[in-house]
Amino acid sequence: MKEGRGPTVPDMGESDLLPVYRRPSTLFVRGKGVTLEDEEGRRYLDFTSGIGVNALGHGSLTVRRAIQNALESGLVHTSNLFRTAPAERLAELLVAHSIPGRAFFCNSGAEAVEGALKFARRRARTIGGPEKHEIVALRGSFHGRLFGSLAITDRPALREPFEPLMPGVRFVEPEDGEGLERVVTARRTAAIVAEPVQGEGGIHPLSEGYLRHLRDVAHRAEASLVFDEIQCGLGRTGRLFAFEHAGVEPDLLVLAKPLAGGLPMGAVIVGEKVAGAIQPGDHATTFGGGPLVATVAVAVVSEVARPAFLEGVRRRGDRVREHLEGLRAASDAVRAIRGRGLIWGLELDEPVAPLVEEARRRGLLLVPAGARTLRLLPPLQIEDAELERGLAIVAESLP
Ligand SMILES: *Cc1c(COP(=O)(O)O)cnc(C)c1O
Repeated sequence: MKEGRGPTVPDMGESDLLPVYRRPSTLFVRGKGVTLEDEEGRRYLDFTSGIGVNALGHGSLTVRRAIQNALESGLVHTSNLFRTAPAERLAELLVAHSIPGRAFFCNSGAEAVEGALKFARRRARTIGGPEKHEIVALRGSFHGRLFGSLAITDRPALREPFEPLMPGVRFVEPEDGEGLERVVTARRTAAIVAEPVQGEGGIHPLSEGYLRHLRDVAHRAEASLVFDEIQCGLGRTGRLFAFEHAGVEPDLLVLAKPLAGGLPMGAVIVGEKVAGAIQPGDHATTFGGGPLVATVAVAVVSEVARPAFLEGVRRRGDRVREHLEGLRAASDAVRAIRGRGLIWGLELDEPVAPLVEEARRRGLLLVPAGARTLRLLPPLQIEDAELERGLAIVAESLP
């Protein structure tokens, strides 16, 4: 316990921060590329990328230049009462690369999900009135920690202390096409929400057939199909968007984590059908799409959308797959490997927390995805030698 703080605040070894995170005492002071350095000068390979945020690594020249350029203009914020050029340029860029429609900008993943839910309900109400409001989500999903996004997140331990959450949510098992058809109805369903690669739930790529089925069922029910690509989008899978692998287009596409190179930003790409139902005043946020973050996001998206960049991610992804298949063959501890591009999960027969700690002692930073799955999310431009070194530490750290 910390002195003078009353008896209820546990000492997490970290000052006056609210103790909602459990984290090691290592204090990071510097970053460059894939490497983070702590206050004692120890270096770590960062295979977390700040949970998929630092897609271009730490201290990226692209990001630093964009921040400098944005500051030159003197415009950090004007509010959404007024037009600014970077947000409009970013909207044009994202729409050109994703689905025909319009873009809405906000400040985080959960906030983008909340926006998508509102937009989907807005469209549904114009079609079917208030009864058409249900949101269908998948078992194993993670969509954020606010009251709407948490309501469609299948994590009882995260939900229960805060119930009641947003009502009108139905969960279905992924890959169960019949189960989906039983729950989705034209009368009641406003939206079906899915992560094409489930992230926090353990790195589960949904099959292309199931993604197509989601599209068909949503279409027949005049419900909006929402893809949450906050973690798997923007180059992570080796395509700009994960839905491209299946050739299935959503009605709403939700983005965040890597979008603005580490500055907080979320986006909803709103397909034409949904955008047509939205009126001025339906939604708003003070900070969303400000000139600083939007300038950086234009630079990041322009970089990761380059065909050669995405080709590099796919090539590195093939190397990772080979390595992990070797590990699975060689180790009884590895139950399954899943992923594509540079998002991978290694499922073990036991909790992965000790492995994460062992890897950190050996100079590799990792983050679990659920209790038994180790998650690999290295920066997308990682060099082969760094990739090999990190994978070697994973192998050495296995139980
Ligand atoms: C991280 C994440 C979110 C929540 O994003 P925040 O910025 O933490 O609110 C939502 N959906 C997915 C798939 C995520 O990975």
